[in-house]
Amino acid sequence: MSYSLVIHGGAGGFESGQFSPAEEKAYRSALNTALKAGEAVLANDGSAMDAITTAITLLEDSPLFNAGHGAVFNAAGEAELDASIMDGRDLNAGAVAGVKRTKSPIALARRVMEKSQHVMLHGRGADIYAEQQQLEMVENSYFHTEHRREQLKRAQERGAAVSLSKFGTVGAAARDRDGNLAAGTSTGGLTNKRYGRVGDSPIIGAGTYANNKSCAVSATGHGEFFIRATVARDICARMEFTGASLGDAARQVVMEQLVEMKGDGGIIAVDYRGNYTLTFNTNGMFRGSVQEGNVGTVGILRGDDAIFDEASETGR
Ligand code: ASP
Repeated sequence: MSYSLVIHGGAGGFESGQFSPAEEKAYRSALNTALKAGEAVLANDGSAMDAITTAITLLEDSPLFNAGHGAVFNAAGEAELDASIMDGRDLNAGAVAGVKRTKSPIALARRVMEKSQHVMLHGRGADIYAEQQQLEMVENSYFHTEHRREQLKRAQERGAAVSLSKFGTVGAAARDRDGNLAAGTSTGGLTNKRYGRVGDSPIIGAGTYANNKSCAVSATGHGEFFIRATVARDICARMEFTGASLGDAARQVVMEQLVEMKGDGGIIAVDYRGNYTLTFNTNGMFRGSVQEGNVGTVGILRGDDAIFDEASETGR
């Protein structure tokens, strides 16, 4: 069997020309780095679980994306992070919500899955568990960047409850050479969100789902809608119960169901055969994809997926 890996760095209402060539190149380069690192795990016969953890950790560490360092601020001026992870072999899953001191929320979600008797921990209890598991702990200020502080200021000036122009959550889904699937998602949530608000990203079935019988999905978008539509599980369920292809199942949920509800965003997914889809109803989604035997591509706006070229001005 051959491997497949897809990643995202959030969907959004981008406009063409919104990013300078240097910014576009920085995004493409960061996506490409995460894609290549995850692919290296799969190419060395590593597991889908290890590949997605590797890719997501790199995206968390990048200040460009809304997860880990560079996460958005809530209305109280703090970072509150959510993450989840799922193993398609046995439907094992782990999730954390509202953590403030754990450097890598995806590492903590995985620890919850592998070492605790629970699926989901939240808030202080989740951070304390991270400490007990000897994960790396940081001050909340580690997550802060000037750019996100500006976004919060602008959102508060507009009086916006949440800023929806650009999401920026990160996630990955993979199939390994053993045919196992895994998916994970990590986020700071929405800019100016209410203290204590939890989005779809840490909710198994909404932001993340994986089942070897169907597919592995990671979502990004306006979480309230993704929770109500149980997006990730619905895509897998349509495959399993109606025999829909991955592409059709994703289209039905993202382009029909969510559009009808006015829920902006997108998903990345791989199925048990190694097919993949990158489906979004916004005009852009930071994304990358690779299948064994092909060179991976990264993209931002619709239809601009390209092999990353370090030497060119835009990275395309
Ligand atoms: N889905 C995330 C949330 O609502 C936001 C995002 O995808 O960027 O928390």
